[in-house]
Amino acid sequence: MTSEQVASAPLDLGALIAARVRDIPDYPKPGVLFKDITPLLADHVAFAGVVDAIVNHYGRGTVDKVVGIEARGFILAAPVAYHFGAGFVPVRKKGKLPAATLEATYDLEYGTETIEVHQDAFTPGERVLIVDDVLATGGTAAATADLVRRAGGEVIGLSVLLELSFLNGRARLGDLPLHTLVNA
Ligand code: AMP
Repeated sequence: MTSEQVASAPLDLGALIAARVRDIPDYPKPGVLFKDITPLLADHVAFAGVVDAIVNHYGRGTVDKVVGIEARGFILAAPVAYHFGAGFVPVRKKGKLPAATLEATYDLEYGTETIEVHQDAFTPGERVLIVDDVLATGGTAAATADLVRRAGGEVIGLSVLLELSFLNGRARLGDLPLHTLVNA
C-alpha cells in the first residue's frame, strides 16, 4: 500500500504498522528477530497514525509527562508528548544523563542492564505515560516504571508499538495498564 492509497482509504493502522515494520533475522546477534521500525518512521501516514493512536487512547489532558526509553522510544514519545501538551522525560542507559539520577538494574538474557532517570524529572503525583517501540521480555518497561515511581511520578500506563506476545512481557508489568498497537 502506498501512502497515497492509505490517505484516500480508511486507515487500518494495525495492517499499516505490520507492513512498515521490517523483520531483521539474527540482529544484533544470532537468534534474535529484530523489529526494525525505520520504514514506519519514514512513512508520515504510519508515523502520524501511531502518534495519534497513542494520544487518542488516553485523551488530551490526561498525562503530564511522557517518558521515552532510549533510544527508539525517544522518537515515538517526543511527538506523543507534544500532542498531549505534556512534557518529555528521557530514560537512558547508565552514564548518559548529566545531572543527579536514580537508577534501576534488571536482568537481560545475558548479563544485566542499568537505566537512569533524573531525580528531579517529575513533581510528586504527576501522571506519567511510558512509551517504547517494542515490549519483549518486559524487563526494560518494568524497570522504567519502577524508576518513575521512585522519582515521584504516578505511572498511568505503558504504550508500545509492538508487543512480542510469545515472550509474555506483560506478566512483568503487574497491574500497569498496557496499550499495544500490534501484537507480533
Ligand atoms: P525487553 O526489556 O526484553 O522487553 O526489551 C525491550 C527493549 O529492547 C525495548 O527498548 C526494545 O527497543 C528492545 N528490543 C527487545 N527485543 C527487540 C526486538 N526483537 N526488536 C527490536 N527491539 C527489541
